[in-house]
Amino acid sequence: MEFDLNITFDAAYQVIANGKLVATSNEEPKSIMWSFDMQKPMSSYLLAFAIGNYDKKTIASASGIPIELYYYPQDSLRVEPTYRHTKTMFDFLETEIGLRYPWQNYKQIPVKDFLYSGMENTTATIFSDAYVIDTTAFIDKNYVNVNAHELAHQWFGNLVTATNGNHHWLQEGFATYYALLAEKEVFGDDYFYWKLHKTAEQLQSMSEDNKGEALTDAKASSLTFYEKGAWALVALRNQLGENAFKTGIKNYLETYKFKNVTIQNFLAEMEQASGKNLGTFESVWLSNTNFPTIEAKTYLKNNSESLAAYFELQEKLENTTDKAEKLNFITEIYGKTNSTTLKSALISKYFTLLPEEFIKNVFLSNEIELRQAIILATDSIPETLKSDYETLLDDKSYLTLESALYKLWASFPEDQKKYLDATDGVVGLPNKNIRLLWLTLAIASQNYNGLKTKEYFDELTSYTNPKYGTETRQTAFTYLYQTLGLTDANLKDLADASVHHSWQFKKFARNLIDELVKDADYKNRIKELVLTLNIEEQRYIKSKL
Ligand SMILES: [Zn+2]
Repeated sequence: MEFDLNITFDAAYQVIANGKLVATSNEEPKSIMWSFDMQKPMSSYLLAFAIGNYDKKTIASASGIPIELYYYPQDSLRVEPTYRHTKTMFDFLETEIGLRYPWQNYKQIPVKDFLYSGMENTTATIFSDAYVIDTTAFIDKNYVNVNAHELAHQWFGNLVTATNGNHHWLQEGFATYYALLAEKEVFGDDYFYWKLHKTAEQLQSMSEDNKGEALTDAKASSLTFYEKGAWALVALRNQLGENAFKTGIKNYLETYKFKNVTIQNFLAEMEQASGKNLGTFESVWLSNTNFPTIEAKTYLKNNSESLAAYFELQEKLENTTDKAEKLNFITEIYGKTNSTTLKSALISKYFTLLPEEFIKNVFLSNEIELRQAIILATDSIPETLKSDYETLLDDKSYLTLESALYKLWASFPEDQKKYLDATDGVVGLPNKNIRLLWLTLAIASQNYNGLKTKEYFDELTSYTNPKYGTETRQTAFTYLYQTLGLTDANLKDLADASVHHSWQFKKFARNLIDELVKDADYKNRIKELVLTLNIEEQRYIKSKL
């Protein structure tokens, strides 16, 4: 049905909802009624509104659709890196799908402690503010994939909506596939094929463990609906050819727009557009629980030079046990390729085979992804490479910095002060990964700013408070539990976490409580706090005592 929402709220806040804002009117003192108009019907699960303190930046697609990018007022410098490539991907999807964006406008709104990465409410995508990032974080964790995925749903899911769970492939498989195409447009071929390679490996191992699932199974897991679903479309396009595939997609959307659809509806359109029978496709990719590994691998080999080289290397390595020969094979392909993705994969996978001279050269390459591959694969840093590893503290990547700080600190106790001084004040990703680690290490170091230890501890302790995001809180709880222990304030925050709306965070908190109550001292302290908790928290905590 068509939804036209009127929402009245405190005038100090922004209200954002499905459709186009057509009027605002002042109501009783200090309230505003916001009126939104939609012109087309949609399914009710896509209804949404967000209310908060937001600013926005408005851009437009090549076709003239207004795109509103919302942000918290303090995040103006994060707008560009957070929403980077939005217009490119919007324009790309309109051209690729062949059907104009079907709604009046598009809005994206970040919110705190969201249950998912993003949700594709029609014209009003809501997403986790853990994706609101600065330029340095872009290389580590960006919004591009989620941005493209929710945007693709505006056609696949919102314009045409699956009748029920058995046809869920039509939503998630399609959104994942079209997001991947949009990312290919932005990041290039290697990104596309290596991401498919990674999911093929996951699906293959699921299949080999006899846990494979059919795409037509309403109870299948996310891996099946999203990744096997995307793979099925890769295979279909490969089988039908680009022209027939695109014609079929366009006809499918035209025929069923603003209606419900089934997989049979989709297949019928694709058969008609291509003149081919899709019975085999259906049995191999949709109703079979196994993942067709050989077909997938052949596709990757035929389309990606770097993956073909990688597969060839793996075969060569399997046929020899000689370490020197293995290293020769690896060095040869590393030297030949221009693909950073392939080089990075070689470093990650064969790190223990690589000699120091090789590692030194990678450091000298100054390629941030390759330097990151080294530090992530490193267990402990050898004395001979100490000065090379120290240069990682200047890299523009928070994941690199986090890993380098910890590993340098642990490997060279005599230089702990130097490493901490160099990274003091760096916050890191939205989950404060660097700051939380830094505080923990500063407290744990012998003789580091002894007079400030209490200040550091108080700051670390404060991050379990509900005013911070769940990722920040979870890391703070973990570091405190593993090192100095939890204060009464932390225990109260943990009780709050144990009934949190985010189920992953709630589960983490409940597991930690299970651990704590095994300790008599913690158990007593928790008992004494019970009366200060709210009813819901009390009910849960009492059940554990
Ligand atoms: Zn989705």
